[in-house]
Amino acid sequence: MTDDGSGRTEGGNGMTSDAGALFRRIPAMDHVLAALDAVAAGRDGADLRDAPRPLLKDLADEFLDLLREEIRTGAVTDPAQLELSALTPRLVAYARRGLRPRFRRVLNATGVVVHTNMGRSLLAPEAVAAVAGAAARYSNLEFDLTTGARGSRYAHVEEPLCRLTGAEAALVVNNNAAAVLIILDTLCKGREVVVSRGQLVEIGGSFRIPEVMAKSGAVLREVGATNRTHLRDYADAIGPETAAIMKVHTSNYRMVGFVKQVPLPELKSLAEENGLPLIEDLGSGSLLRLDGDGLPGEPTVREVVEQGADVVCFSGDKVLGGPQAGIIVGRREIVERIKKNQLNRALRIDKMTLAALEATLRLYQDPELARRRVPTLAMLTRPLVSLRAQAARLAGLLRKNLSGHVEVAVRPGASRVGGGAFPESDLPTALVCLKPLEISVDGLRAALLDTDPPLVGRVEDDELRLDPRTLAADEHPLVLAALRRALGVE
Ligand SMILES: *Cc1c(COP(=O)(O)O)cnc(C)c1O
Repeated sequence: MTDDGSGRTEGGNGMTSDAGALFRRIPAMDHVLAALDAVAAGRDGADLRDAPRPLLKDLADEFLDLLREEIRTGAVTDPAQLELSALTPRLVAYARRGLRPRFRRVLNATGVVVHTNMGRSLLAPEAVAAVAGAAARYSNLEFDLTTGARGSRYAHVEEPLCRLTGAEAALVVNNNAAAVLIILDTLCKGREVVVSRGQLVEIGGSFRIPEVMAKSGAVLREVGATNRTHLRDYADAIGPETAAIMKVHTSNYRMVGFVKQVPLPELKSLAEENGLPLIEDLGSGSLLRLDGDGLPGEPTVREVVEQGADVVCFSGDKVLGGPQAGIIVGRREIVERIKKNQLNRALRIDKMTLAALEATLRLYQDPELARRRVPTLAMLTRPLVSLRAQAARLAGLLRKNLSGHVEVAVRPGASRVGGGAFPESDLPTALVCLKPLEISVDGLRAALLDTDPPLVGRVEDDELRLDPRTLAADEHPLVLAALRRALGVE
């Protein structure tokens, strides 16, 4: 900075105001903290009251840096802007934003039930309680209560999984990608696994079947053409190096037209003739038939086991509606080999997952109970009349409280299963469609990301659309609060 003798300073960035004087008006740290303390002492200050002191100090520091920056850029020119009383609302908002958890609740109004970016499945209340119990207390995680000696964590879910799927044995690992990895590593390392070209899928989050196979050390032997694979394609590829035949559920896409995949029973016969294990990566893996609920065509895990797959894997948190997990079921001899694989130690599930999974599986012992209590199933099977009623209720609430700020309409639309499951199936729903009158739809969408909790809907045809399927009825007031905030309605 240069001093021209007039008492004014001029910085290299063209700053010509009395910046020095302004800098001296920036409140002292002590006063800033005192202002935060005063708010914390009030009725609405609980969040600040509980804040770790060092964190609060850092945020106050950052806030003061922000003010300095604003003086430098000329955004602040009037000393009155730097009065503590004028700054306090901004300061408090800044501190609140900095203090809120990074990982937090979101209102999912997208209608995508198994939304991978929003946590996939919500747990049933029974599973939530089991997680809390396992987290807070010691347990028999790996302690055998009949012998008092070391036990196996998998024992807690193996029996229910076998009952529900008809398989001889079961094992659970961290997620389904891990399940594919450990199955191939155990059965096919250094040898070939025969897969149809049409099933070499990318699931999202950069999970690609061919790449996972490569990591396992299995050599991929692709057969058939992209759209059609015949039994003879598999048969021709089988040789001394073949370790297994694998079928992969093309979870997130469907080919239509001139297409052919070989049905599982035919693959089973071929595998048997050649003494090879047949692996199926089912992806979502439903334990119940959902045909009657508008989700046709997906076999249950039990059906796949009955049709002869020797080892089947699927996700715990897709249509099953449990915690993140990769469930492996199949022939005892194979599952036992997988259990002994050293990788298993690295891929194992934790006690909270185990608690949630066992509680979820317990609900499945009565399919009607599962449909009612497992949120993913309940949302997927929600009748259209109920969705229409919820949409009307939400629309009424928003119309009443946001009139003059948004136009509200209810229109028919479609929800999605998500998680790569049932990609063809659109579930009919009723959408609450919002047209903001004072800001753009994109502006509204962005503002809703900064509410607490944030609200995520779908932007289509210049409207923000909210699907009641993935919102709980008790979340409607939060949806209203988020919209109020984003639209600036007091
Ligand atoms: C989703 C999916 C996976 C990956 O499962 P995660 O539980 O997400 O690891 C693997 N294979 C198929 C076919 C899938 O659909």
